[in-house]
Amino acid sequence: MPKPLRVLLVEDSPDDAELVELELISGGFAPDIVRVETVAEMRRCLDRGGWDVVLSDYHLPAFGAEEALDMVLASGQDLPFIILSGMVRAEEAVKLMKRGAADFLDKAALARLVPAIEREIRDAVDRAQRREAQEQVRIMSMAVEQSPVAVMITDTKGIITYVNPCFCANTGYERHEVLGRTPNIVKGGDTPVEEYRQLWQTISSGNVWRGMFHNQRKDGSFYWDEASVSPVRDLSGKVSHFVGITLDMTERQLRDQELHKAVRHLTEANTELERFAYVASHDLQEPLRTLTSFTQLLDRRFHGDMDSEAKEYMAFIVDAAKRMHELINDLLAYSRVTGEGRGFARVALADVCAQALRNLKCSIDEAGALIMLGDLPDVVGDEVQLMQLFQNLIGNAIKFRRAGATPEIVVSAQHKAGEWLVSVRDNGIGILTTEQDIFEIFRRLHTHAEYPGTGVGLAVCKCIVQHHLGRIWVESKPGDGSTFFFTLPDTP
Ligand code: ADP
Repeated sequence: MPKPLRVLLVEDSPDDAELVELELISGGFAPDIVRVETVAEMRRCLDRGGWDVVLSDYHLPAFGAEEALDMVLASGQDLPFIILSGMVRAEEAVKLMKRGAADFLDKAALARLVPAIEREIRDAVDRAQRREAQEQVRIMSMAVEQSPVAVMITDTKGIITYVNPCFCANTGYERHEVLGRTPNIVKGGDTPVEEYRQLWQTISSGNVWRGMFHNQRKDGSFYWDEASVSPVRDLSGKVSHFVGITLDMTERQLRDQELHKAVRHLTEANTELERFAYVASHDLQEPLRTLTSFTQLLDRRFHGDMDSEAKEYMAFIVDAAKRMHELINDLLAYSRVTGEGRGFARVALADVCAQALRNLKCSIDEAGALIMLGDLPDVVGDEVQLMQLFQNLIGNAIKFRRAGATPEIVVSAQHKAGEWLVSVRDNGIGILTTEQDIFEIFRRLHTHAEYPGTGVGLAVCKCIVQHHLGRIWVESKPGDGSTFFFTLPDTP
C-alpha cells in the first residue's frame, strides 16, 4: 500500500519534476506534488500548510533554494527541506545545511531521495513528539508553580529538591533556603512522633499518606497544613522522589473554632433567655394573682360605695390584670416550645388537626366558620406542639375574619420536593406581608381593641416549625385573605 506524501516542489523544470515523482512512486509513496516556481506561489502553498516535505532545486530563474528555505523557516513549520541540484559547490551546500536544510542530493543520483525523505519524516515525527512532551512538562510545571497549594518534592532520603512559590509564601522561606534541607525545617512540634513514623512507613512502602502537620513558619509562627504525600517512581518502577502537597488549614481551623465558640455562646444565651422567660412568667403570676384577688375583694366589699368614676377605674384595673394574665400565659407557652420539647414520634396530622378544632369549637361556632380539611399526612414530630401549631393558625384565621363574611378556612397538604407543604388558607382581612415580620414575638399589626391577642401565637408557630426542621411563611393581600404555609420533613 503506497504511503501518501504531500510534496512541495520548488522546481522550474517539469521534466525534473516528473523524474522526482517517478522516483517517489517506485520508492513506495503515493506522492501529491505541487510544483512552485515563484515566491508568490511558494507563499500561498506554505500558507495553506499540510506538507510532509519540501524538495527544492538550487537555482531557479525567479527564485532559489536559499530564499525558499528562509520562507519555510519563517513560516514556523517544522518541514524537512531537501535540496536537489546538479551543480552546487560544497561550501554552498554546507551553508544551507547550517541554516537548517535537512539534506543535499544530486539530481543525477536520485536513488538517495527516498531513504532521505523517510529518515527526515521519522526525525520530524520524533521532533514533534519531543515538542509535545516538552509542552506538557512546561504546562505541568506552570500549574505546579502557580498552584494555590504548597508543593514540596524530596528525594528518597527526604532532602528537598523543589518547592513551589506557594510553599515559600506560606512558610516565609526563600526557595534557596530550603533546597538541600529536610522538611524538618518547617516542623512545628505538635504533630505526634507516631504520625511521622506512620508517614515514612506509608510512603516508603509505595502508598499515599494523608494527614495534618503542625508546622512553623520562618518567623516562628505556627500553622496547620492538611497534607498528602505520595511516592514518585522512575521508569524502572523504583521510588525516586516524594511529592508533598499541603493546604494551609489555619484559617479554616480558626474559623471552625470561632464558629464553635459562637454556637456555644448562642446556645448558652438562648438557654439563659428561655430560663429567664420561664422564671419571669412563672414568678409574675404570683403577684398578679394577689392583684386580681384583692381587686375582686375590693370590688365585692365596696362596690356599693363606689361612684361611677371609681367603678370605671376598677374596670380598667381588672381589664389590665386580665391582659397581663394572658401575656404571662402566652409567654410561658412560648418558653415551653423554645425549650427542649418532648420526644418525637409518628403523628397523624389529621388527628392533631381534629384535636385543635375540638379546642377551638366555641370560637368556630360563634363565628359560624366553615372549615374544610384536605388529606393530611403522617409525620414524625411532637404531637402536642403540632396540635398547638394548627390551633394557633386556625384560631387566627377565625379571629382575623372579615366583618360580614362567613369565615372559610381550608387546611391542606401536598408532597413537594421531598417534604410536606401544609397550608392554612382563610378569606379574612389579610395582611400587607411586606410590612413587618409577624412571626416575631409581640409583633402585632392590629391593636388589642380591634382584635384581642398578645402577638405571641405566630412566634410560637415559628418555634414549633423550626423545631421540626421546617419553614413557615405567609402569603396574603390586605382584604383578600391569608395563606399560612409551613413545611415538615417527610421522614420515613
Ligand atoms: P395575636 O394573634 O395574638 O395578635 P399572632 O402572633 O398570632 O398574635 O399574630 C401576629 C399578628 O399577625 C396579628 O396581630 C395579626 O396582625 C397578624 N395575623 C396573624 N394571623 C393572621 C390572619 N390569619 N389574617 C390576618 N392577620 C393575621
